[in-house]
Amino acid sequence: MNYILKPKKYPKLLSIIIPCYNEENSLPYFQKEISSTLESLKCKVELIFINDGSKDNTLKVLMNLASKNKSIKVISFSRNFGHQMAVTAGLDFAKGDAIVIIDADLQDPPEVILEMIKKYEEGYDVVYGKRTEREGESFFKLASAWIFYRAMRKFIHKNLPVDSGDFRLISSKCLHRINQLREKHRFLRGMFVWIGLPQTAVEYKRSPRVAGVTNYPLSKMLSLAANAAISFSPLPLRFSLFVGIIVAFLGFAIGIYAVYRKLEHFFFDHSIVYNPGWATIVGLICLTGGFILISIGILGEYVARIYEEIKDRPLYIIDYTINISEYKNS
Ligand code: UDP
Ligand code: MG
Repeated sequence: MNYILKPKKYPKLLSIIIPCYNEENSLPYFQKEISSTLESLKCKVELIFINDGSKDNTLKVLMNLASKNKSIKVISFSRNFGHQMAVTAGLDFAKGDAIVIIDADLQDPPEVILEMIKKYEEGYDVVYGKRTEREGESFFKLASAWIFYRAMRKFIHKNLPVDSGDFRLISSKCLHRINQLREKHRFLRGMFVWIGLPQTAVEYKRSPRVAGVTNYPLSKMLSLAANAAISFSPLPLRFSLFVGIIVAFLGFAIGIYAVYRKLEHFFFDHSIVYNPGWATIVGLICLTGGFILISIGILGEYVARIYEEIKDRPLYIIDYTINISEYKNS
């Protein structure tokens, strides 16, 4: 992609968004690491932690951190709304000229932020982290991520960067654009690509989790993958149309063949035992029946999404906040 890059000034304020779900054990390490990175920064920083309905003592740990430092802000959800919503809340409250999204488990090394700022100064609006290596992750996670990114690029998100997650720096210009997109089923990585501002990558090695366990089990990964495909493109619907046409042609051809066999039996060769062809019939019923059910299922996914959008509920519910003046706790 050819961009016209307009160099930007070093940010005056950097917002760092950290979604947290059951991270009581990671947070002390995170705070230590990020503090040493922040010392090398030449600007003010606000840290926005989102407690996404954690069941452990994450909120207590965050309250403790925020009580000592006004630049540490906390948004606490009423329940678990999921990683994408936690990041969305952080984006809604961020005030910086540049905004970083980073995980709380130190899988994304904070020192990469310094490189991201350099790219930002060059003029990029989105600088995403690209994982060159991923340590300490299961074969299944690595293989599914590999297939997922390639399939998405092939069929749906042509410019989706491979091997990158939500760890990224964005400009305030990009922040305003992304905050205008209020869809309920969010695949933020795809939404950043959809916006289309100048984007580039910095490479980093993804480390294992510093503490705790992954909060992205298979069910959440599948739901994110479904959002990535269905919320962005009617292609899955077209796929069912495409297969439907093939199945219909197949049925038509078999029908013609059946008529031909019947005529052959009556007019030419009475010795041919006319086989009623139950195997073909059963086979075809299974084929078409299965395909119809799949199509209805895909259609149902779209209808469900329309239903969610029509209800127009807020994306997340805040229970209360700390050190955020524009939100009135009541
Ligand atoms: N997270 C969240 N809500 C959730 C699941 C995860 O806010 O429902 C946070 C989590 O605390 C972490 C980040 O999102 O900071 C990434 O999650 P995780 O490390 O569990 O995912 P993985 O790195 O294994 O894909
Ligand atoms: Mg992680």
